[in-house]
Amino acid sequence: MKTNRREWMKAAGVVAGGLLLAQDKALGLGKPIPILTDDTKGWPADLLLAGKSTMKVKTIETFTKNPLSIVRVTTDSGAEGFGQIAPFDADISATILHRKIAPHVLGKDPYALAAISETCIDRNLKFPWSFVCRALGGVDTALWDMRGKLENKSVCELLGGVPRSLGVYGSSMSRSITPEDEAKRLAGFRDSHGFRAFKIRVGTDAGHNKDAWPGRTEQLVPAVRKAIGPEVALLADANSCYTPEKAIEVGKMLEQNGVVHFEEPCPYWEYEWTAQVTEALKKLSVAGGEQDNDLAQWRRMIALPAMDIAQPDVCYVGGITRTLQVAQMAHRAGMKVVPHSANLSMVTVFSLHLMGAIPNAGNYIEYTIESNDWTNDLFEPVLRVRDGKVAIPNGPGWGVTINKKWLETAERQISSV
Ligand SMILES: [Mg+2]
Repeated sequence: MKTNRREWMKAAGVVAGGLLLAQDKALGLGKPIPILTDDTKGWPADLLLAGKSTMKVKTIETFTKNPLSIVRVTTDSGAEGFGQIAPFDADISATILHRKIAPHVLGKDPYALAAISETCIDRNLKFPWSFVCRALGGVDTALWDMRGKLENKSVCELLGGVPRSLGVYGSSMSRSITPEDEAKRLAGFRDSHGFRAFKIRVGTDAGHNKDAWPGRTEQLVPAVRKAIGPEVALLADANSCYTPEKAIEVGKMLEQNGVVHFEEPCPYWEYEWTAQVTEALKKLSVAGGEQDNDLAQWRRMIALPAMDIAQPDVCYVGGITRTLQVAQMAHRAGMKVVPHSANLSMVTVFSLHLMGAIPNAGNYIEYTIESNDWTNDLFEPVLRVRDGKVAIPNGPGWGVTINKKWLETAERQISSV
């Protein structure tokens, strides 16, 4: 039977539409991103995000001393809060903050956290994600600190959590270290700080399947496992190194050595590749998301699912408000959150407060074992690892004080109304 063109188009449209609808349903793509919608019941943060006050944001200051930039937000009533922009090239992010974020925050109610966050993204639709989110994260984390100070609660308590000590994993950042030296170093940290989990680096970052030198990964993993013993959890991070085929091959070797967490196995933007690896490896959890700061992309990754564990970085994704949105989407999907916090700046403090409150917090928080000279003297009291745990700073807001001297020696910029 012949069909004319119009009938064919109509039939094809129905089929294509049906397929699209089925795909949407399978991926959960029709679901709204939480918190900014009505579909948010059950999270203490929802009430806060809808909060109101009679205050207005009067000034936003940045204090920049690369690679860091600290943010202070002050209201017309004199209330203040401190936040931090994601480290590295923070001078660029600070410029973005004053040019592209501050105009949408000055004069606003500092309690309107969700509205501020959403407006800053909407009004920068031509400048999406990275630096805009980094700058927004600086303001958002300052507003959470202010809120805590005004209500005499830690951010953890604001979010419904209880300040306490949480497990951390010792995170190696090195790919230049030999397997023997890494194994020895991690066993030393196990003994001196009581770490019960470590993360090592495999492959190379965005490395197109290349290792730091031939055979390093295959030697490193069993050497570390042997040195730290069977009781200590072992995690591995490939930093976007592998094609799916190679990632699965490496992943099986990781499984054989009792690795429980395989992070960013494939280039992170190839989230269907990561999904293939997640599907193929069942004895370990594939983790990812540290670079992702687009909430719709997060929704797609969680719906697929691209990975087993979600790893938002509070400072990359745009602050606590947007991290909560990611965490809530993950929670709906039964997915745990283990945030990316790869240095000892305020990002680790933010992650501790968050993890003390969300119901789908994973077993541990990333805690670098490298010495970060550039975070020395930034805030007090400093974080300490005891028995493999770090206490959530217990005090109003973030529970830490940015050192005056650090601020005085940084470059100050101010936006005000
Ligand atoms: Mg990572």
